[in-house]
This record gives sequence, C-alpha cells and structure tokens, in this order.
Amino acid sequence: METTAFETGMPVYDLATDKVGEYQGKVGPRAMLRPVGGGREWEADPARIRPATREEQLAAGVRAANARSRGGSVTAPDLEYLGRPPAPVAGCAECEELAVRRAQARAEFDGSAETDANVLLRQHRRREHHDASDGRRIFRFVPFSIVQDASAEPEYEAHCVSGDETDCAATSGPCGTPTEVEEWQRRHTQETRHTRYRRSFVDYAVLARQPVR
Ligand SMILES: [Zn+2]
Ligand SMILES: [Zn+2]
Repeated sequence: METTAFETGMPVYDLATDKVGEYQGKVGPRAMLRPVGGGREWEADPARIRPATREEQLAAGVRAANARSRGGSVTAPDLEYLGRPPAPVAGCAECEELAVRRAQARAEFDGSAETDANVLLRQHRRREHHDASDGRRIFRFVPFSIVQDASAEPEYEAHCVSGDETDCAATSGPCGTPTEVEEWQRRHTQETRHTRYRRSFVDYAVLARQPVR
C-alpha cells in the first residue's frame, strides 16, 4: 500500500489504536505519533494512519482538555461554562477558523458544538497567545472549578433528522467514541439513504470547591 506523505504536527487518525495523534515523523518503517495535548509518543503503522477528520480532531482536543482538568489543576477549561465566550485574536488563521466553526454551530443551534469550539478556542488562545486572563478573572469571583466527573464516560450520540414532514428519529444511542457514532451513521445511511444527522457530545461535570489563593 502506498503511504501518504504526512507533515510534522499534522493530526492523524491511527486505526490500530483508534486514537488521534500529531504526526512526529518516521523512525525506520514506523510512524511516531504524539497524543493531542502532549504525553508519551506511540509507534504506528504508516499504512494504517490517515489525516484525522475535523470531528476526530475536535473530540481529541476536548478529551485532552478534560484529561487536564481531571488532573486537578484549575485551568480555563474547568471554568468553561462560567466564562464569557473567548474572542478570536485578529490576524490569526486558527482563531479565525474556530470562530467560524462556532458561528456555524450557533446558526445551527448546536449548543454542544458551540461549547466544543469555545473550549478549543480558549485552549488555543492560552497555548498560542499565552492568554490566561479569562480563567483567572472568573476564578477570583467563583471559588469553584467545574471538573469532568471521572466516574462517568463522555457520550457521543447521533439522531437521524432526515425526512420530509417528521424526522426519522433513529438514534445511535450513547456511544463511547465518535468513531462508533460515525459507523452507525454509515450503516443507517446505507440502509435508509437518510443523510442528515444531529450529533451531540455529553459529559458529566461536578463542581469542586477550590482553595482561595
Ligand atoms: Zn490564534
Ligand atoms: Zn433515518
């Protein structure tokens, strides 16, 4: 099988581990991938990786943000739901792209996609523009952090909204990964020729009191 050329830092999907990683280059015949948000690199078969879809990148970014908040340190993602939506930094292409994605989510009344875009934009602002103001400002007034409930797995779900008069309303049911949802969608489309879905991402959050600094 012919292998595609990947650029360093490109988010790729590894079929063997069902994970998204940033492409780091090749070591011998193996491709090195690094988890989104950092962590230990892993080796992948170059023939079994492909560029990650937008949805996969989004899910990986949210997971990384959640993993950080589980670690106990209070960072901006913990305070996401209390904060004002982050603003894009003028002239930055990545900010722009996330702002566009957020606007699209708003236009489609997709609250979870809008939240995801906010999480990623805030994360990107902190990483690329060294911005910590949002989280800190809120932290002073609200001595709680919102942490993902580690005892409950996040859920991904798709509802079929195809149909002329009424929606078909078939659902994938809660799934543990975006991939399962996509597989269900492909199957459902094959069986019914339905092509429109509403998708949602759900997680559980708990409020934890923070010591006042
Ligand atoms: Zn930016
Ligand atoms: Zn359907």
